[in-house]
Amino acid sequence: MHVLKFGGTSVGSVENITKVIQILEDYKKSQPVICVVSAVGGITDKLLKAGHLAQTKDESYLSEYKTIKDIHLNILSRLIPNVDKAVSDKLNTKLDNLKSLLDGIYLINELSPKTSDKLVSFGELLSSYIITETMKSKGIDVVRKNTQELIITNDNFTKAEVNYNTTYKNIQEYFSNATQSATILPGFVSKSQQGEITTLGRGGSDFTAALVASALEVDTLEIWTDVSGMYTANPKLVKQAYPIKKLSYQEAMELSHFGAKVLYPPTVQPVLDKNIPIVIKNTMEPDADGTYIAHEQTNNLTVRGISNINDISLLTLEGSGMVGIPGFSKRLFEVLANHKINVVFITQASSEHSICFGVNKADANQAKEKIDQAFEYEITQHKINPIVIETDLSIVALIGDNMKSHQGISGKMFSTLGKNNINVRAIAQGASEKNISAVISEHDVKKALNTLHEVFFEVKTKQLNVFITGVGNVGERLVEQIKQQKKYLKDNLKINLRVIGLSNSRQMVFDEDGISLKNWKAVLSTGETASLEGFFKTAKALNLRNSIFVDVTANKDVANLYANYLKESIAVVACNKIACSDTFDKYNQLKYLSRKYNAPFLFETNVGAGLPVIDTLNNLIASGDKVTSIQAVLSGSLNFVFNNFNDTTKFHDVVKQAQAEGYTEPDPRIDLSGVDVARKILILARESGTVMELEDITNDSFLTKANLESNSVDDFYKTLIDDEAHFQKLFAQANEKGSKLKYVAEFNEGKAKVGLKEIPQGHPFYNLEGKDNIVMFYTQRYKEQPMIIKGAGAGADVTASGLFADIIRIGND
Ligand code: ADP
Ligand code: ASP
Ligand code: MG
Repeated sequence: MHVLKFGGTSVGSVENITKVIQILEDYKKSQPVICVVSAVGGITDKLLKAGHLAQTKDESYLSEYKTIKDIHLNILSRLIPNVDKAVSDKLNTKLDNLKSLLDGIYLINELSPKTSDKLVSFGELLSSYIITETMKSKGIDVVRKNTQELIITNDNFTKAEVNYNTTYKNIQEYFSNATQSATILPGFVSKSQQGEITTLGRGGSDFTAALVASALEVDTLEIWTDVSGMYTANPKLVKQAYPIKKLSYQEAMELSHFGAKVLYPPTVQPVLDKNIPIVIKNTMEPDADGTYIAHEQTNNLTVRGISNINDISLLTLEGSGMVGIPGFSKRLFEVLANHKINVVFITQASSEHSICFGVNKADANQAKEKIDQAFEYEITQHKINPIVIETDLSIVALIGDNMKSHQGISGKMFSTLGKNNINVRAIAQGASEKNISAVISEHDVKKALNTLHEVFFEVKTKQLNVFITGVGNVGERLVEQIKQQKKYLKDNLKINLRVIGLSNSRQMVFDEDGISLKNWKAVLSTGETASLEGFFKTAKALNLRNSIFVDVTANKDVANLYANYLKESIAVVACNKIACSDTFDKYNQLKYLSRKYNAPFLFETNVGAGLPVIDTLNNLIASGDKVTSIQAVLSGSLNFVFNNFNDTTKFHDVVKQAQAEGYTEPDPRIDLSGVDVARKILILARESGTVMELEDITNDSFLTKANLESNSVDDFYKTLIDDEAHFQKLFAQANEKGSKLKYVAEFNEGKAKVGLKEIPQGHPFYNLEGKDNIVMFYTQRYKEQPMIIKGAGAGADVTASGLFADIIRIGND
């Protein structure tokens, strides 16, 4: 005998019911089939909604009823186009009975648990009727048997407990006499010993099937649903989740208890007792393997699945009066048991100063009221405090039989949560170590599941979620480089780099699943109005793991928001130099936040564009070296200017050309005044461990007073024309000595200065070409011969690749 159960989605549409019948016909070829069916998908919820509306005297229960009626009549008429009148009359009579029940609830405005069970039982009774009649109309030898005549329970309405002896006897007796090749059974419904309608709890059709399978001691119990098995995590929340091939009964039970809705938790016990395996299959993909659940599995994987339960409230009983006095927890849990309040989670610190436990949100207030009543005396004596409730929490649990023999799993779990700024409110680990649970804010569930899934199941790929502000010259190249390298990164570095947010000064767009970079400019042009605050708020609200904010602007207001990002554990990558060259306090504060919130703050492109200057410096220091002196040419634009300026060119024209080719800041005065170079040497000095401010740097400007006092860029260019003789003199003086002009930054014995220098032949700076930069680090280890880094130090492409490298550094972390 085959026992198969089909869930709500599987019997939720004409197409799916047709698939179900096809599967049953195939199975029937070898042995008779018993098929347990759920209500049509969503009907149980609709019945309850109609009931609650009627109970509150809301006449819209009638329209809810009408929807329920239409759904069923429509399915029947499409499944059996020329349906017999007798069949449709019978369906209509059942629907009329449902209406009378709802009218009654409306009339007396009361919906007791007993009436609620009567109400919801219609779901399975209707679906099983329709499916049976459809099969009959196809000439299949099928009988519908009402499970209320087989499954007998106590009168704990809405979640009744089964009387196994009677139930098994009934099932065995019925099937020993049954001759049909197919039997349809409504799931979920049952009757009490007194003959009242009861149900087995939400999701209970799985349990009905388990009871039948166990009573008849069949070979396997098949649960057919809308996903291809029990997944490593809820596939609706974790896209990368995949079906688990094999699980032990214990693991399946833990996963379902902790939220894997695909299997109703009580389902496991009856089949476990008889050693009957459970197979979870997908009606929509019958050929997929699904999940096989049986006694001990030989699989060595430690963590087998991650599940979550939402709508949890955490209650804390606390007080010095509890320490060392036995009986408190007994009294506490007795109160809860007496009021049938289910405790999902318990922890007690070894100081015994407090007991913390989790209940469903719906039970929290009643639990507090009853416990405060029970401990009234101790509360008035100030021995303990009234219960404190925290709401909007969820439990996230790692499940696996083999976790107990592996150290470090909980460490990895909590450090992963911590790194992603997910605050853990309470922790529990069962003595069997099959389950490690953490209580976190409901807001963080999706992020927690995805990061944990990544760490425990996808070790090989890391998702980076990037938010880019500023898609001008450099930003545009960055996006293009990401687009081009996406596949390479995935294949070779196992990094899944996704651009989630993009903004220029006018518009911004977001896509939680990653913006398609194919025509990102068009997508951005349809975006909402840009705002720096709005960009931050969305990045925060999306709450994605490994989020990185990339600042490709030169804007002070953007730099002022880094602290906000870091506090949300969002990494910051910037080519904008403003933050790092602001006051030392501000720079230091950002460094501190980066450490505190585990969010990298990287700004390699602040010095030497794509050259690995800061990274090299950081590595020298991390390995115990000490910087004694730095000599550098750090301005690609000034180098370009002085390499092209001579007695045949004009200073003004050369500067104009540098700007036109994108080597200068938008305001060339920032470069020519030396401020840009001063900022860079300041950052290198600070990264070398020196406390320094921009004002501490000596800046002997080569510009004239008129150049420096110009009050606009245009004005500045005019003064360059007027002062051509001054610049020609600087060139001639150097040229006479066979030297070249270079703008040099120096850091020595804790002091820094910037200025134009005449560099003699033979000096490492002498042959520095085009817009190149050079940095020479003298350290304790590199005493005589400095560590030299040299190469293109300006330009959109190299700056973009420097930003890219910072992003990848975070990915490789
Ligand atoms: P049915 O109506 O077939 O009984 P359910 O809705 O009760 O189906 O259960 C299937 C659903 O369980 C899936 O669609 C999925 O959303 C949810 N689910 C939650 N956790 C898991 C998990 N770990 N594996 C598979 N499904 C899960
Ligand atoms: N129809 C019931 C519910 O939705 C039982 C089930 O589908 O398993 O809870
Ligand atoms: Mg279900």
